[in-house]
Amino acid sequence: MKERPLRCWAEIDGSALRHNLAVVRSRVPQETKLIAVVKANAYGHGLVPVAKELVLGGADVLGVSNVEEAAELRAAGMTTTPILLLSACLPGEFRQAIECRAWPTISTYEEARRLNGVAEKAGTRVSAHFKIDTGMGRLGLWGADAVKELKRAERLPALNIGAVCTHFSSADEDPERTEEQWAELLRWRPHFADKALHVANSAALWRRTIYACSYVRVGLALYGLPPMPFLRRLLRPVMSWKTRITLLRHLPAGRTVSYGATYLLRKAQRLATLAVGYGDGYARALSNRAQVLVRSNRCRIRGRVTMDQTVVDVTSAGGCKVGDEVVLLGSQGDQIIHADELAKIAGTISYEIVTSVGVRVPRVYRDFHSLPEGVRTRTTRRRGSRQADASCSKEIPIATSRTLRSPHA
Ligand SMILES: *Cc1c(COP(=O)(O)O)cnc(C)c1O
Repeated sequence: MKERPLRCWAEIDGSALRHNLAVVRSRVPQETKLIAVVKANAYGHGLVPVAKELVLGGADVLGVSNVEEAAELRAAGMTTTPILLLSACLPGEFRQAIECRAWPTISTYEEARRLNGVAEKAGTRVSAHFKIDTGMGRLGLWGADAVKELKRAERLPALNIGAVCTHFSSADEDPERTEEQWAELLRWRPHFADKALHVANSAALWRRTIYACSYVRVGLALYGLPPMPFLRRLLRPVMSWKTRITLLRHLPAGRTVSYGATYLLRKAQRLATLAVGYGDGYARALSNRAQVLVRSNRCRIRGRVTMDQTVVDVTSAGGCKVGDEVVLLGSQGDQIIHADELAKIAGTISYEIVTSVGVRVPRVYRDFHSLPEGVRTRTTRRRGSRQADASCSKEIPIATSRTLRSPHA
């Protein structure tokens, strides 16, 4: 029996991921450890397969947002790689963080005291990283307060502060402000001179190599999304997002397209209806403005993007047929649509474009050393995840190994 075609899917390119990892590695000093950031479903690329590929490629630590993501990695058999939690934990999450052997990021003595208490109760020790605010204004206390609370936290018997860290607010757009934050950190550095240190995200790593310190926390660049435009020629986009033509029609001048009738045909056009909408994460803000690739031609969206379907003008893409592949993000022939292009139109950043690709869109893994060819996964919510304590050891089925075929095959 012929396999049902995919309507809308994201192809995740393992060779591009490994290429970007090598580019990042070449930028990081030998003694610096690489924290590969895989939060938010690996920026929409698929948490477990991407994490496995990055660890296979030499990433030292995995960076996630929270204990739920850490538990998913542990349950998928990644039992030895250290995991750093980048967001603050809720008090009720410390126990699971300890069970998952994840390192919480803490900012205050109060958090340290609670974490220490949970570790003592569990009869174990816990490592955490301590954040100082130097201008991000999200986690961490400022300067003298941070140092004071760090000193108290260091005396707690079941707690080990593995590193001190800060986060830059504007590494991608404001080198001077970044330098000011660095100077603020260095001012307090003598108070924790013995501690490991980390400050750099992708953008900071390409500002100054001195920011690399003991660890770097890199996400964006690994996915081939350039934090600054000049990096585009070094990196390869990992995600391609595709859909298919479900219907083709010729419409005469005078007709309108989609909700709100925001597009009026001034002359006859050939229009294609696509199996993608904002329900898949294709932003409604792209209505009437973004382009897609059909037979290597750039074709413009006509009218509003709806929940499940979007209409494009394929008048210039002669010969296209129902069932043809359409590229929303990625390349076709000599054309390419970068996440930055869609981000600019939608008034956002590339991070949001890729993390918005929805749960309805299966990820198809191509050329992953850690997986058989063409493995598809759907983003699944963990069932019964509120039995939080057991979930670190629970298996989560994520992959079905059906292969991708075109409907014409
Ligand atoms: C997400 C995140 C990073 C990764 O940043 P990129 O710009 O994607 O490289 C680094 N540090 C922290 C604290 C983060 O939350």
